[in-house]
Formats: sequence, C-alpha cells, structure tokens
Amino acid sequence: PQYHANPERYEQMQYDRCGRSGLKLPKLSLGLWQNFGAVDAQSNARALLRKAFDLGVTHFDLANNYGPNYGSAESTFGQLYKQDFTRHRDELIISSKAGYDMWPGPYGMGGSRKYLVSSCDQSLARTGLDYFDIFYHHCMDAETPIEETMQALDYIVRSGRALYVGISNYQPTETLEAIRILRDLGTPLLIHQPRYNMFDRWIEDGLTQVLLDEGVGAMVFSPLAQGLLSNKYLNGVPDGSRAARPELIYLNDKDLTPEKLTKVKALNEIAEARSQSLAQMAIAWNLHNAAVTSCLIGASRVEQIEDSVAALAKLDFSASELAAIETILG
Ligand code: NDP
Repeated sequence: PQYHANPERYEQMQYDRCGRSGLKLPKLSLGLWQNFGAVDAQSNARALLRKAFDLGVTHFDLANNYGPNYGSAESTFGQLYKQDFTRHRDELIISSKAGYDMWPGPYGMGGSRKYLVSSCDQSLARTGLDYFDIFYHHCMDAETPIEETMQALDYIVRSGRALYVGISNYQPTETLEAIRILRDLGTPLLIHQPRYNMFDRWIEDGLTQVLLDEGVGAMVFSPLAQGLLSNKYLNGVPDGSRAARPELIYLNDKDLTPEKLTKVKALNEIAEARSQSLAQMAIAWNLHNAAVTSCLIGASRVEQIEDSVAALAKLDFSASELAAIETILG
C-alpha cells in the first residue's frame, strides 16, 4: 500500500543544531548498517524506514559497504526511497561514507581522492539520489596525506555530490587537523561520527572537547553497544538477535562476557527504577553528553524504534543516578 507519512511526525521528535552550523538534526537518527542488506527482508526494511520517519527521524545513515553484501543496504534504501520518500526528499538528511574496503585493487579503500569521488558516485547510483546531505570519510587513512582526503571532501561538495562533509572514527589530533584544513578550503567540517556508549567512552578523552571548542556536531554510533545495552541478552541469546546471526560478524557470544552481563543487569535495575527500558536509558545517557548532537541507532524491528524514540520523554538524570551508573561502569 502507498505510504502516507504521519502528519504529526514533527511533534514526536526534538531537533538540535549540529555544532555551529545551520543544520538541525533529530536527537535520534537511524543507521542502515545492519537489517537492510540483501540478506534481510525488504518488507521489514520498508517498515523500519516508514516507522522512523513517522516518528520524526529525518536522518538515515548509510555507507558504501553496508549490507551484507557490500552496497546492498544502499540498493535496498534506493528502492524503498523511490517508492516511499521521493516526495519527502527535502525533509530528509541522507548520508553515506567511504573509507573502509569496498572493491578490489588499490582504489577501493583508504582516503585517496580517486577512491572517495568514485565511491561517492557509486553510492549515488545505488541509492538513486542526486546528492547526499552529508558525505563522510569513514576512517582515517594514515597512508594518504590528510590534505588530499579533505580536498576530496571539499570537491565532493563543490561538485554538487554532497551538501556537507563529515569524518568518522578520527582521533582528536587528526580531527583538529581535518577541521583546520576544511575551514581553509571553505567547506567547514559539519560533524564527526564516533562510537559512543556506556561501554565505550573513548570520546570523553579529548574528542568531545575538540568538537565543542570547534563547533562540530557529533553523531554517535552504536549507542546500545549493538543491543548489549538492552535487556535482551540477560537470559541467553534470543533467536534472531544480532549476536545469534552468524552473517553479522561484529557481535558474537564472545562479546557477551559475564563481566559485561553483570553490568548490564545492574544498569537494567537503574533503568527500571526510572521506569525506562535499558535501551532508553542508554540513549538518554548518551544524549546527556553536551557534545552529542544525535544518537545513531540501529533497529531490527519497528517496536525497537518506538521504544528508542520514547526515550526522549525522560532524558534527565539525578546526580545519584549518574553516580550509581559510574560505579557500575567502574
Ligand atoms: P545500536 O547500538 O543502536 O544497536 C542496534 C541493535 O540494538 C538493533 O539491531 C537491535 O538488535 C538492538 N536494539 C535497537 N533498539 C532496541 C531497543 N529499543 N530495545 C532493545 N534492543 C534494541 O547501533 P548499531 O550498532 O546498529 O549502529 C547504528 C548505526 O551506526 C549503524 O546502522 C551505522 O549507521 C552507524 N555505524 C557507524 C560506524 C562507523 O564506523 N562510522 C560503525 C558502526 C555503526 P537486534 O538486531 O539484536 O534486534
């Protein structure tokens, strides 16, 4: 059936300015890393995108190699976009990235101008879009002069392929360098995309200060530590969950250590006392960091998107809750 977007979608969501830019982003964004590949049911992918947009999630995040297989998340998105979202193009922020391995040979990964521009063109072809709102360099490439990578991002904007640029997984000093080069080129860095969650707080050690000082936003990924920061793994690994799916190689039984699960259990008790799911508390905790513009969540079911968006109803923490969380995280 034809998609009619929820007319009340903008009342469901809060939007924050991304750093010192003119762009506002939803507090929750949806990533298509998993659950949109060739291995996934397109009917579910369609339901996820519709549900997100109906709840005011105006930002969808892609990368060239999301799937599996590489490229298939962009292809799935392209088909669903064409069916449901073309008329909403100007209400959407759609991003993609290049940096990790994508195709064989010396031009299919890294930070060269050759790779970034050709990969961006491939991503535009797969999604059927005329331009991306944000195009990212996915990870620092120490073998390429950072000037070349930043010039490629600047060129991607100047040639009309993207409106804004971002970097992902860059360390603080590299980030500062990127910011300075891009500023000189006249294409300011909009956003940084780092991993951030209660189990991985590396950004607190320097990066968040750089971003705040320089007026760059943060789109933090894996806020639920891929689902670990929810109650789902407390009694074993449920069928269909990310840790149970062999084709999804980045979360396995091995990651569900007794130490982690003990912490998850204790965190779950704090969440229950706040009348929130643990997933909701994990999102609220991430957004509590002043540098964080938006939490980039994933979802395998529409109910998860509903649950995660409902986190916005209670974002504040008491000092004693924060202290109790610190004690658990050690
Ligand atoms: P999350 O930490 O949000 O994990 C998502 C998973 O958590 C879902 O697939 C689901 O697991 C579970 N989940 C989601 N919501 C709930 C809920 N409300 N209650 C219980 N469980 C829930 O993020 P991802 O790791 O998926 O990453 C999000 C996005 O970040 C990616 O899609 C991508 O866009 C980006 N990213 C960027 C990277 C980079 O290098 N720049 C690297 C990794 C991700 P299940 O499938 O088991 O149901």
